[in-house]
Amino acid sequence: MSAVFANSTLSHLVRAETFAGTLTNVQNRVPLKLNLVEQLWAAWYSYMNNDILATGLLFFLLHEVMYFGRSLPWFIIDQIPFFRRYKIQPTKIPSAKEQWHCLKSVLLSHFLVEAIPIWTFHPLCEKLGISVQVPFPHWKKIAIQIGLFFLGEDMWHYWMHRLFHYGVFYKYIHKQHHRYAAPFGMAAEYAHPMETMILGFGTVGMPILYVLYTGHLHLFTLCLWISLRLFQAVDSHSGYDFPWSLNKFFPLWAGAEHHDLHHHYFIGNYASSFRWWDYTMDTEAGPEAKLAREERMKSIANRGAKKNL
Ligand SMILES: [Zn+2]
Ligand SMILES: [Zn+2]
Repeated sequence: MSAVFANSTLSHLVRAETFAGTLTNVQNRVPLKLNLVEQLWAAWYSYMNNDILATGLLFFLLHEVMYFGRSLPWFIIDQIPFFRRYKIQPTKIPSAKEQWHCLKSVLLSHFLVEAIPIWTFHPLCEKLGISVQVPFPHWKKIAIQIGLFFLGEDMWHYWMHRLFHYGVFYKYIHKQHHRYAAPFGMAAEYAHPMETMILGFGTVGMPILYVLYTGHLHLFTLCLWISLRLFQAVDSHSGYDFPWSLNKFFPLWAGAEHHDLHHHYFIGNYASSFRWWDYTMDTEAGPEAKLAREERMKSIANRGAKKNL
């Protein structure tokens, strides 16, 4: 029996032969005020009648649909010359061979490396007290939690990614991700399995730490967070900076321009979502940032020289 309703017999009552039948029963027989997403959620868990399988399959499908669904528009844009004017490295269009190699590798990693934690995810959620019940929490609570996960993930990503650029870590682990000096959407998860697991901790580990500390988290919030984080990762590898990109309206947002420079110069711009870590730690990438850094060092040296006169 599913734990999707506080009253566990309800899921048994609404369960039908088909998913559509279960959904109709949820809409007609459940004495709760549910919106369409909550109805679909309740119908999914009741129909599956096995929460481990329901959560595992949901997360696996969510990952595949969001990741490849978000990569596809970038693949199409790469085929249309009109968009070259917005490409950050306009002469470097990924070849079909490069994209095919990337697709095979990412799919293999999804099925071998990421499928295992996905299948063991529900028992972990139960242990941690992550809820699957309907109705969902208030949207404000969801928004605050997702905001905190973005901040936490960005911090984790900055320091771990910076570490990955040191000697042996780069040589044996992170070098794979830097195969593409001009990245494209699908290259976001093209990485060594070790890197996927360590950087992936920022995405999954932050909500786990949050629920350990507060005791409150809903699985739907996690679904939303993972979808948004996948969008951020794919978009930052897209290679395109539009006049309507988010970083143009929200300058603290890193966006593609920030991460493209990292792939281009191999150094600097280590954070994932925001710009403040690279700014405050003086690790911004690119010739402009390098020039500003040199100017700053020159003026410090001049001040020191004047003092010694
Ligand atoms: Zn890197
Ligand atoms: Zn990258």
